[in-house]
Amino acid sequence: MSQRYLSGETRSQAITQASALSTSGYRLTFDLLGEEVEETSQADQALAEYEALLQDLLAAKMEINLSIKPSQFGMGMNWAAGIERARQLGQNVANANGFLRWEMESSETVDETLEGFSKLRETCGTAVGCVLQSMLRRTAQDAKSLIGGTQKLNVRLVKGVYIEPPEIAFQEPAAITRNYIEVMEDLLRGGAFVGVATHDPAIIEALRNLLKSHPEYLKRCEVQMLLGVQERLRMETRRAGIPVRVYLPYGHAWRAYVLRRLRQNPRLAGLAFQGMFGGRERLKA
Ligand SMILES: Cc1cc2nc3c(=O)[nH]c(=O)nc-3n(C[C@H](O)[C@H](O)[C@H](O)COP(=O)(O)OP(=O)(O)OC[C@H]3O[C@@H](n4cnc5c(N)ncnc54)[C@H](O)[C@@H]3O)c2cc1C
Repeated sequence: MSQRYLSGETRSQAITQASALSTSGYRLTFDLLGEEVEETSQADQALAEYEALLQDLLAAKMEINLSIKPSQFGMGMNWAAGIERARQLGQNVANANGFLRWEMESSETVDETLEGFSKLRETCGTAVGCVLQSMLRRTAQDAKSLIGGTQKLNVRLVKGVYIEPPEIAFQEPAAITRNYIEVMEDLLRGGAFVGVATHDPAIIEALRNLLKSHPEYLKRCEVQMLLGVQERLRMETRRAGIPVRVYLPYGHAWRAYVLRRLRQNPRLAGLAFQGMFGGRERLKA
């Protein structure tokens, strides 16, 4: 089951799959599985693996686009040390003309993650981008603050995969989608590059309509989708002329990752690996 959603356990398997997808016209981003590390050595290993991946991508002359989770780099254990690891990677990625996505995790980490993003931009500049989650009520304001900054902004917009309380997060799928579309428009109007990360046909339709009235946005957006999910929509989107980036997770940590998710939310049982970045409908199943 995992084979559909995972590009492999090793980076060479991930690179092989990336080459094939790239030949079919897709952009790629690589994600080493793992999060919430509890030992410094695990965070160091994550950094070392990403550095090795960077070297392999350079050798293969492939685009360098990496996604990292703050907690995987140890930000939860020691904020400064976590940011320093990310900064080190970000600097090397920037030197290689690549891009590093600093992902977003659960709501209690949003402030420190955005603070970390601002720190990373001091040294890595536009080679680093962040993630905003439309389910959070604060996101519209966060987007406005980020747009107001001086540097060019690159945001991946997602609905958000974590279960959050109603005080801080929209619960209704329609409200989450509405907020998504509004924030997407705000970000594009504000000059940001937007990674429209979704498998929701309604959002992709909204993007396509927006591009009809604002064709100039096309060079500042792309759709992003997880490997193995909604492949028909992925193909249709690309054929419609919108660039699509596929998110390629790889690594050995998938068992622990899936089991942890299942422990957190037993309703995900039966969905197994799909629960990795599972949609709300699925969480409610
Ligand atoms: C490239 C990318 C990066 C992401 N990064 C983050 C991040 O940094 N932080 C974060 O909180 N979240 C992240 N997410 C997850 C995101 O927040 C959502 O949980 C997830 O994308 C599902 O929302 P959706 O917009 O696809 O809409 P949904 O309404 O949830 O899904 C639309 C339809 O797509 C299908 N679908 C959606 N997800 C899956 C799945 N996993 N398996 C099978 N079918 C599925 C279903 O058919 C569903 O009906 C990321 C998602 C993507 C695509």
